[in-house]
Amino acid sequence: MVIMLEIVFLGTGSGVPTAQRNHASIWLRHEGDSMLWDCGEGTQRQIFMAGLNFMKLDKIFITHWHADHWAGLIGLLLTMNLEERRKPLHVYGPEADRFVADILDLGYWGTRFPVIPQNVPYEGDDITTVMKTKDFEVTSIPVEHSVPAVAYCLREHDTHNIDIKKAEKLHGLKEGPLVGKLKRAGEITLNGKKISLADVSVLKKGVKIVYSGDTRSCDNMIKIAQGADILIHDTTVTEEIEDRMHTGAKEAALLAKQAGVKKLIMTHFSRRYTDVSELEKEARKTFPESFAAKDFMKLVL
Ligand SMILES: [Zn+2]
Repeated sequence: MVIMLEIVFLGTGSGVPTAQRNHASIWLRHEGDSMLWDCGEGTQRQIFMAGLNFMKLDKIFITHWHADHWAGLIGLLLTMNLEERRKPLHVYGPEADRFVADILDLGYWGTRFPVIPQNVPYEGDDITTVMKTKDFEVTSIPVEHSVPAVAYCLREHDTHNIDIKKAEKLHGLKEGPLVGKLKRAGEITLNGKKISLADVSVLKKGVKIVYSGDTRSCDNMIKIAQGADILIHDTTVTEEIEDRMHTGAKEAALLAKQAGVKKLIMTHFSRRYTDVSELEKEARKTFPESFAAKDFMKLVL
């Protein structure tokens, strides 16, 4: 079975939106699981314009609580309420319990569905698993910004595809319940002989997607981005602009190279660039597989 993994860029601007670029948000779908990575102001309208259904969202991951990354939550929660959502919504982020409580406290409204905060560690250099399904996990790591901030990673579990012809030839193992058992247990005994999964299968590495949120270039990003298929990274400015809170295009490219990623998708562009090809060119000098994201750009893996 081919698993569908889809990324839709809903907002690729930074602190101030432009006519072309909304505040930060990325829609990520893994088969039946849809989630958001950040939810800047105007995200719900971007969701409509992208032809996506916000009622399918169960999880929202906030990288940090600067308004350009979360202000869209208020409107989105309100609309979900009006549309009679009843199922819980999980909101992940550093100090999520404090911020979710504050948001729910604003104004005269109250949601008729549970909004469940999930705190994500924002200090140190450990990679933390913040959620897990049978197909993938989402991990996080602290990054370096002016406020507590984290990066997220979605990593599919590796799978083993059994070569049934080989299994039959080597061990007399035929299609049936024993094959399922071998997949689950990693080892079975047939006619007194041990068969291990590794002997009769091909390993399929799970896809890995990493999103930096806002950060200056840091070692933790190299750590979490290691070998990623896609690294979505803050590339707010070009080399000559000094910005101590964000990453420049050249630095992000260098980081992508050091981490051995396959593709760098650049995002969170400063409004000073109406044309971001300048940033793309700068990044490609160091890491040729660098591409500038734009609003509504869609990647299917
Ligand atoms: Zn930002």
